[in-house]
Amino acid sequence: MKKTLRFLIVLFTCTLTVQCAQQQMRRQVRESRTVVLDIGHYYAPGRGGQGARTPDASQGGALEECEFWYKYAGEVKKAIEQAGYKCVVINRGDTPADPTLAACAKETGVLHVKTPQPTAIYLSRHHPKRMAVGILSADYALDWKPAAVIFLHLNSDSDTWRTSYKGAFYCNQVGVPMATTMAEHMNRTLFNQSMPNGGFPCGVIIRTDGRRGGGDWLNTCNDSWVPAIITEIAFLSNPQHARYLNTPANARRFARAIGEGAVRYLRNR
Ligand SMILES: [Zn+2]
Repeated sequence: MKKTLRFLIVLFTCTLTVQCAQQQMRRQVRESRTVVLDIGHYYAPGRGGQGARTPDASQGGALEECEFWYKYAGEVKKAIEQAGYKCVVINRGDTPADPTLAACAKETGVLHVKTPQPTAIYLSRHHPKRMAVGILSADYALDWKPAAVIFLHLNSDSDTWRTSYKGAFYCNQVGVPMATTMAEHMNRTLFNQSMPNGGFPCGVIIRTDGRRGGGDWLNTCNDSWVPAIITEIAFLSNPQHARYLNTPANARRFARAIGEGAVRYLRNR
């Protein structure tokens, strides 16, 4: 009987300690005023950005997602900073060899994680059961004790032109309210208005499968109670989206809408 009682007291104390630590982590996230933006993929010298590309240059020019975000992450950052939050922009590789992109990186203040092998799978330092290509970015983002992390990407579902509209903000469990607010903002300000989307709204999809693209970036953030979003809302294989994003004024509008959506969430959390 005594033994059982002692066991129960120990169990109760452990549960309380774990709950206390979790509450503290959650409070830290809620009180944080820092947003980390991760420019997706990396720039390989001589080969360019290593993300998705348009099938060709026919819709106003060739686009690649990593290069796109080197040019426009600064617009997302501005929208966040103008609302009074701190914004840190990172990339898992090194400064692009391309002089135009290098100048953009400097102007935006991109911090380069310089992953030794950008194509290799690494274990997370913060949550070692999580592993992925590009996880060093997620680790570095968590080092900032952020309110949220946004992984800047563009989608593609074909090597040839195909008009797909079902783009979404992929998010972790704790990021659902943020992704929902960001999607609502997209729908209110951009989708099916200046940006054609065939009448489809911007989606929200929870991604927990670590094996799929970016799943463990989201999971490792979830383990720290940090809302995390991958912006897969536009398709480079959709000629309408490619044409839209090839106009610099539209690309800036698109980037700003991502930042503004994040701010709407942060102000109301
Ligand atoms: Zn991508």
